[in-house]
Amino acid sequence: MTTNENKFQEIISHAKEYGFVFPSSEIYDGLSAVYDYGPYGSELKKNIRDYWWRWMTQMNENIVGIDAAIFMHPTTWKASGHVDNFSDPMIDNKDSNKRYRVDHIIEGLADTLRSEGKETEADKLLAEMDALLAAEDFAGLKDLIYTRNIKCSVSNTCNWTDVRQFNLMFSTEIGSVAEEADKIYLRPETAQGIFVNFLNVQKTARMKIPFGIAQTGKAFRNEIVARQFIFRMREFEQMEMQFFIRPGTQKEWYEYWKEARLQWHLSLGVKPEKYRYHDHVKLAHYADAALDIEYEFPFGFKEVEGIHSRTDFDLKNHQLYSGKKMQYFDNEINQNYIPYVIETSIGLDRMFLLILSESYAEEKWTKEDGTADSRVVMRIPAKIAPLKLAILPLTKKDGLPDIAKELMNQCKPFFRCFYEEKDTIGKRYRRMDAIGTPYCVTIDHQTKEDQTVTIRYRDSMQQERIPMSQVRELVQANML
Ligand code: ATP
Repeated sequence: MTTNENKFQEIISHAKEYGFVFPSSEIYDGLSAVYDYGPYGSELKKNIRDYWWRWMTQMNENIVGIDAAIFMHPTTWKASGHVDNFSDPMIDNKDSNKRYRVDHIIEGLADTLRSEGKETEADKLLAEMDALLAAEDFAGLKDLIYTRNIKCSVSNTCNWTDVRQFNLMFSTEIGSVAEEADKIYLRPETAQGIFVNFLNVQKTARMKIPFGIAQTGKAFRNEIVARQFIFRMREFEQMEMQFFIRPGTQKEWYEYWKEARLQWHLSLGVKPEKYRYHDHVKLAHYADAALDIEYEFPFGFKEVEGIHSRTDFDLKNHQLYSGKKMQYFDNEINQNYIPYVIETSIGLDRMFLLILSESYAEEKWTKEDGTADSRVVMRIPAKIAPLKLAILPLTKKDGLPDIAKELMNQCKPFFRCFYEEKDTIGKRYRRMDAIGTPYCVTIDHQTKEDQTVTIRYRDSMQQERIPMSQVRELVQANML
């Protein structure tokens, strides 16, 4: 195992041990590519979602939110192109019966080439793959797999079927009587809930172009390659925003959102060198330009967010299939038109994994007395940390818990606090480090005399004495 693979395994174990992420229905051995979020995980996930939501709908006056249903009229997915086009080219290995996404096994070879220092060869291979994917040349893709001798990781053979398309949508039935039930889909993206509500929102919120509609919610994809923990799941959450614009202005808005979304990521304190843009060569059926914002996960640079210039593809098709006008009257230019759309689409679970990957650190140092010490710390940005403040009475006696509880009562209406009196202070600090609590406050005997407390900062481990009356303000000042 490489250092990075080790680190990734450690993050997965840590996430489970400290109540961030559990395998779904674990007592039945789990369900592949489905996960549950525990006490600290659900809090962190909610904080990331809220941070995105606030940034989108509160900081941008021309963006409003909606919360559309997961189930939608089945024609939605015909109009959006998902019934016909939402598929990935797959290939099966005849010996292991294992199915792979064609782009993934070719990218796997490119990663190996890179790790051997053969950057140019890797780039050439990916360019060749992109061209074949763009041309939907499935025979060419199969040839490429054969000529590069790409083997199945299970059977270790190069005995492949033809390349075929495989639709990723889950379906189910709606209706109580089986014979009358209609097939419907679990939405594979949240975006369509926004498109079908375009006019409802525009009219009721009296929005003027350019404006955006934001939404967060579950999406479902029957992913074939379901690996890498919560990176690729079958049930996941998206945070999407569709920005409606005048046709012809898509290039400038595309550039605007590309930059703005990267700034959002950087506002969480992630190092800029951990991000890069990846322009799409093969465009999805709805796009005239698209790129991924990629982050360097422990397993390499991978997409965390997509920026797509979707043209008027979706609204035009919903107009066609529903027979309802999807037009907007622009009184500045005195024209009716179907707006163009720039989409920003980020996976909440992938962002969560990004935060775990970026925050997790194992630290070792030598203490003043020469002995070794170490800790695992999650340097989660304070504004999204699951718990903001731990309040720790030094002992269970002498009225210290009462003072601590008084501080709890002062702070807990404003942010998540945690009270603990068990174990030594050192052990309690370590537990708070492991779940990423940015501040710990210790109440000791001096507190009784001068109403000061010791505040300990997670990242620097520095401690200082401050008046107890300043604790709430200090924590709140770092939450925005
Ligand atoms: P990929 O190429 O990784 O399959 P995609 O290009 O199909 O992703 P989009 O349709 O653009 O992804 O979806 C937008 C975002 O939703 C992605 O950037 C990603 O963060 C998230 N996402 C997509 N599929 C999954 C999944 N199976 N599990 C978790 N997050 C996902």
